[in-house]
Amino acid sequence: MMIGIAASPGIVIGKAYLFEKIELDCKPTKIDQKYVDYELDRLCHAKKKTKKQLEKLYEETKEKVGQQEAAIFDTHMMLMDDPILEHKIKGYITDHLYVAETATNYAMNDVKEMFEALDDAYLRERAVDVVDVCSRLIYNLAEVEIMNLQDLDEEVIVIANDLTPSDTASMNFEKVLGFATDMGGKTAHTAIMARTLELPAVVGLKVITHEVENGDMVILDGTEGTVIIHPSDEDIRNYQLKRQQLEEEKKALEELIHEEAITLDGKTIEIAANIGMPKDMDSVLRYGAQAIGLYRTEFLYMDQVACPTESEQFDAYKIVAEKMGAKPVVIRTLDIGGDKSVDYLKLPHEMNPFLGYRAIRMCLDREELFKTQLKAILRASHYGKIRIMYPMITHMEQVQQANTILEQAKAELIDQHIPFDKNIEVGIMIETPGAAMMADLLIKEVDFFSIGTNDLTQYTLAVDRGNEKINYLYSTFHPGVLRLIKKVIDASHKEGKWTGMCGEFAGNEKAAVLLLGLGLDELSMSAVSMMKVKDMIRRCTYSSAKEMAHKLLDMAYVNELEHHLDDYIDKHIKKEG
Ligand code: PEP
Ligand code: MG
Repeated sequence: MMIGIAASPGIVIGKAYLFEKIELDCKPTKIDQKYVDYELDRLCHAKKKTKKQLEKLYEETKEKVGQQEAAIFDTHMMLMDDPILEHKIKGYITDHLYVAETATNYAMNDVKEMFEALDDAYLRERAVDVVDVCSRLIYNLAEVEIMNLQDLDEEVIVIANDLTPSDTASMNFEKVLGFATDMGGKTAHTAIMARTLELPAVVGLKVITHEVENGDMVILDGTEGTVIIHPSDEDIRNYQLKRQQLEEEKKALEELIHEEAITLDGKTIEIAANIGMPKDMDSVLRYGAQAIGLYRTEFLYMDQVACPTESEQFDAYKIVAEKMGAKPVVIRTLDIGGDKSVDYLKLPHEMNPFLGYRAIRMCLDREELFKTQLKAILRASHYGKIRIMYPMITHMEQVQQANTILEQAKAELIDQHIPFDKNIEVGIMIETPGAAMMADLLIKEVDFFSIGTNDLTQYTLAVDRGNEKINYLYSTFHPGVLRLIKKVIDASHKEGKWTGMCGEFAGNEKAAVLLLGLGLDELSMSAVSMMKVKDMIRRCTYSSAKEMAHKLLDMAYVNELEHHLDDYIDKHIKKEG
């Protein structure tokens, strides 16, 4: 049995699909004149095959994910028919006598350079697509199977060294049962996405790609963080039973869907959901979230060829606002950078991307991009109860600058006679120790806080949230992090304002009683975690949770603190028979 990090709960049993991104060796190879027609013929066949694949990808993505996400494959199909590209490839075969693979590689570089030299930013960004589509063509010429997670014929468990958030977004969710990776951490975005999508996952297994072969039978237990390769019949029976028990527990908790998270002594805490992709709304509605506490808008920008326009964004935000009706939706402005990349934004390569040009830092530097998003959010605010939230705030000036751009966006909409909610609330994420320490000052500028524990923990403890080697040091139960959380909550309450939490810690049912005791007003999490958290809150009293939280803040060791919390849960939380 291999032990990793339990990234997303659930048990799946199935065949392994090793997802490896193979680098093709494109050494220049010459041919004899008599093979020119043969190479042209090969090119013609490979082009047909490429176009078929792209058509299929387009149709499937459009149906399962959405028209916007599918648009990339449409662009690729157009590039495949591009006469300049075709002329160049054929030229390298007929005039320079290269094999079709080399010819395509050379033509790709020529056309890529042509695109890169253009003045129009949109067309310049097409260079990435030229490389993408030509690589596909080269793979097809070489008859090497292109690995993608869309085009799967059977149900599989994906095994990979690492998966980027966009690899995960492009998965065929009907065929992928779950995934296991060598790298990663519980709060890296790939793991967060898996939880939101209810896709069982184990990350940080270090060497699973060396241990598993394509087609091997595996059991993946995302609840415990384990993987069994070549399980025995008895293992399979045991895990099938365990899966059934988990499903029954989940079903039993569904009776809480329409209940509030209210303690035995009458204190309520709002239970909200985090979303990224439109698909996430299914479980939000199914599990009856009281609000959306975090809408990660960056997923709208990923897997695209250019930034979504104001009206594309407006449509996406409006749908969510309308689906939630009178319930609040906190839309977080673009938080790209760190482990989330977007090719067309051409972000610089950085030594420390998590400490670099990301989120509000990039938005304040690219004002037009930011204003477009703010206008789209404002327009959608007419159709529901939207709140705006800025990510990664570290400096007071950033809040003021962001608010100035927001005022400009509002003024432009007023000029255009476009309605929006004039009283829209604006909040910030508290994700850095610097912001937490000056929460008493920051709160004067905003309506609310939401604590992002994923980043707050990594920055407070200097532990990369996605690095499996130091995962043992990454704990939000660290007293240093908890004290910062307490400081933030108290600062907001002193000004009569509220604090929520949208980091993954909010969905940890054990932490829920502690966070209640610390005075948090809202917990926002993957929809699937909401029932367990509600159940916990409904079984305790606020007075005892407060007392316990107070004691915990005086403890020095993470282990001691967690043991104390376990004891409290055992003693004070009424277990029903
Ligand atoms: C966080 O940092 O806790 C958070 C919610 O933001 P993200 O996970 O998207 O960085
Ligand atoms: Mg964050």
